Amino acid sequence: MSEALLKDSYGRAIRDLRVSVTDRCNFRCFYCLPHGSPEETAPKAALLTYEEIERAVEVFASLGVEKVRITGGEPMLRRDIETLVAKLARVEGVKDLALTTNGFNLAERAAGLKAAGLDRVTVSLDSLRRAAFTEMTGVDMLSRVLEGIRAAQRVGLNPVKVNAVVVRGHNEGEVADFAAFAREHAVDVRFIEYMPLDSGHGWSRERVVSGAEIRQAINERFPMVSKRVERGSETATRYRFADGAPGEIGIIAPVTEPFCGACSRVRLTADGQIRTCLFSKVEHSLRDVLRSGANPAETADYIRSVVLKKEPRHYINETHFEQPARTMSLIGG
Ligand code: SAM
Ligand code: SF4
Repeated sequence: MSEALLKDSYGRAIRDLRVSVTDRCNFRCFYCLPHGSPEETAPKAALLTYEEIERAVEVFASLGVEKVRITGGEPMLRRDIETLVAKLARVEGVKDLALTTNGFNLAERAAGLKAAGLDRVTVSLDSLRRAAFTEMTGVDMLSRVLEGIRAAQRVGLNPVKVNAVVVRGHNEGEVADFAAFAREHAVDVRFIEYMPLDSGHGWSRERVVSGAEIRQAINERFPMVSKRVERGSETATRYRFADGAPGEIGIIAPVTEPFCGACSRVRLTADGQIRTCLFSKVEHSLRDVLRSGANPAETADYIRSVVLKKEPRHYINETHFEQPARTMSLIGG
């Protein structure tokens, strides 16, 4: 590991960059971008071009960022995303290039992504039942997404991770079924607590299914043991199955078990704004810097100065908490 060159004012090293490539999406997950959400898509000229994203990632990598995740919105809606994957796969210092997708066209595109140099893929999948999947995502695409997961495994985008946001009243009864799915298909299922980042403002504490509840539901059917891995800055606590079955479980509990103290992430929005926290109230325009003709050293100075402003933690659990203006699909999850 190279010496951390990018540190915030609390001593946290920044190793992990999430790059959103579009704020548009073809799904309408109710916890993110529900039906009827205002269309706040940025004008095309405001979006970073692939060349600009490449330049930005080169500078981040020169500062010690090793993990890059392409996200959105739905990143597969951006034209020729494979071109960007190929550019980022070549950036010196990037050791892990991943992409998060809703999986709608992964079955056809998985092989091309792998060939372009993508290391891993994460697919969002909130229900294994067609009716509940359609209700949660607003689209009737469960079988396509399942095909996409299989295709990703076949072409070697492994370990394939599956993200499931657990929301009370919707899919909390499926937690153990997802564990069975992880075992049967040898995938890593990551359960995510519902966060107040939905544009419909439907979040409430009562609807959050806690990491503890999730753990218990799985343990009752499939006993798990904690994986002895250095958690470091990982968002998930990771488990394997006690009986040695394949697959892995991760629990991401930002609401009930915050991990801000070990956070190593910054985000770049599709319109080129650096966000130092999912819950940031301010953004910093890297786009303006890139378009002002700044050279790599000047861009690096700017990024360093922004990272020093990274918030100590989120305030979801405090009475004065206010949801940020931009929501998950606009920030890049
Ligand atoms: N469209 C892609 C997808 O769904 O995988 C990538 C972007 S999406 C914003 C990234 C991740 O954020 C998804 O796994 C999604 O489930 C998660 N997410 C969105 N809104 C959330 C919320 N309110 N709380 C927790 N996770 C959320
Ligand atoms: Fe789209 Fe992903 Fe948000 Fe669902 S979670 S609405 S697929 S951006």
